[in-house]
Amino acid sequence: LVRGLEALKELPCETQDHHRVPLWVNTGLMADVVRSLERGAEGVGLYRTEVPFLLRDRFPSEEEQRLIYREQLEAFAPHPVTMRTLDIGGDKSLPYFPIEEANPFLGWRGIRVTLDHPEIFLAQVRAMLKASEGLNNLRIMLPMISSVLELEAAQTLIYRSFHELLEEGHKIDLPPIGVMVEVPAAVYQARELAERVDFLSVGSNDLTQYLLAVDRNNARVADLYDAFHPAVLRALQQVVADAHSQGTPVSICGELAGDPGAALLLMAMGFDVLSMNATNLPKVKSVIRSVTLEQAEDLLAEVMQLTDADAIGHFVENSLQRAG
Ligand code: PEP
Ligand code: MG
Repeated sequence: LVRGLEALKELPCETQDHHRVPLWVNTGLMADVVRSLERGAEGVGLYRTEVPFLLRDRFPSEEEQRLIYREQLEAFAPHPVTMRTLDIGGDKSLPYFPIEEANPFLGWRGIRVTLDHPEIFLAQVRAMLKASEGLNNLRIMLPMISSVLELEAAQTLIYRSFHELLEEGHKIDLPPIGVMVEVPAAVYQARELAERVDFLSVGSNDLTQYLLAVDRNNARVADLYDAFHPAVLRALQQVVADAHSQGTPVSICGELAGDPGAALLLMAMGFDVLSMNATNLPKVKSVIRSVTLEQAEDLLAEVMQLTDADAIGHFVENSLQRAG
């Protein structure tokens, strides 16, 4: 197995007819970095910055954050590392910043918290920008965006930090800025968002929960939580079309991208990058390498005729088995 992984690592992720699909990883801990590099990840599509925040008993200072981010950026350089600004609230609250609400997933989460607390956002962005000095492989990504105004407010703060740091003498480039599409409102604003950013990245974990009105962590409705639901797949297709209409690349960084059958559908939809847990990367790469783009497109066309998530799941599973 280890030798197989080693060989696969060196092979490009491309279909039989040479359609390239970069596979990136989702990280949080330094341990993820090692596993990702061993598996041949070509970049980081989602670095969950809340992970280091969750591991302490107070907010890390700007300098502490800089050191943590620098480690990630250095480990992957020259590959890109997409750092998501703090996404707390929902199911992730910090012990030293408790948020108590009746409906946390519909409440004070992600960008909503950091726009209300610009001092947290600015310290984090400054730390990221400083960490990128001399490496230039940073990308900044904003979670839970549900309107153009939120994006613009966050961009203003990022530009402000950037200019401050230039004045302080740092030699940095403005990194690409992107937004996560994980709230239904962002699906219907994908074109307007895409026009204003360097990339979009779909967070299918939250998008599934919000489109289907199914709590992603509630066991009682776990059967209903299914990203193969036709409504979710149609939303994903729409986001790709809208992003590309503005010439903006679009990736996906939810768990869905790490499912080999789903990865074929996502590739066929036209996602430019698939970002996943490092564990799933070799499996996804093998499957992509075993098909042609046309086969994946045919699979997608058939799937989009089906009307329920179970039928889609079985259809994809059977097709994968037939293909060996
Ligand atoms: C998502 O929502 O799909 C996502 C990637 O972010 P998280 O799982 O951290 O909410
Ligand atoms: Mg999310």
